[in-house]
Amino acid sequence: MKTYLEEIAKDVYAFLVWDDSWDSYNNCYWLLEDNDILLIDSGKEEHSRFLFSALNGKGISNSDVTHFIATHGHKDHIGGIQYLGEVDGFIHNNDLELIPKNLRHKLKMNLPDHGLTAGNLKCVLLGHHTKGSVLLYHRESKALFCGDHICFFAEPLNGNKVVDTGTLEREKFQQFVSDWSQNEEMKRQHNFNLFIEGLKAVTNLMLNIYVRDTA
Ligand SMILES: [Zn+2]
Repeated sequence: MKTYLEEIAKDVYAFLVWDDSWDSYNNCYWLLEDNDILLIDSGKEEHSRFLFSALNGKGISNSDVTHFIATHGHKDHIGGIQYLGEVDGFIHNNDLELIPKNLRHKLKMNLPDHGLTAGNLKCVLLGHHTKGSVLLYHRESKALFCGDHICFFAEPLNGNKVVDTGTLEREKFQQFVSDWSQNEEMKRQHNFNLFIEGLKAVTNLMLNIYVRDTA
């Protein structure tokens, strides 16, 4: 199984596992903060042993994870949580219907539409990919986690590095958005306006011009 583990910023790790079923990677992230270990997205249940082996390689066992946040309720983002120990788990309640009943006890459905959550992460409801999709922003590292609001498929990693300037991806993505913007039926079917609103939220955070939290 092809996997990557990289420290993408100080104490912020990305773990990628290749998934043949959709020709792309499933991504998980963890943040080390004082005595807390915060996991963002868990990958699929069947891939959890790869995630846990990556954590173990850094001296962390699955029961050491203290917090879990799901960017949304798809199985490739929450499937592995049943193997975590006692965690404070969070997801947006708009995704309640996506969460299998056997996992619901692990998750509090109280991520804010706009405010702070565990790990001092800013959380903003995007609601496009799923009704409860959120972005999470870690101000200290300037790492932004946007779940599947933005996806890339079958793109090789440049130099086997997770972090890249993204020039190639940017051009392809601009073309993708441009094509979408000119297809009225696609725009209606896939709520283009909401997608663009999400991109604006991402951009505002990256430009650090986000309004102060009220939460
Ligand atoms: Zn998804």
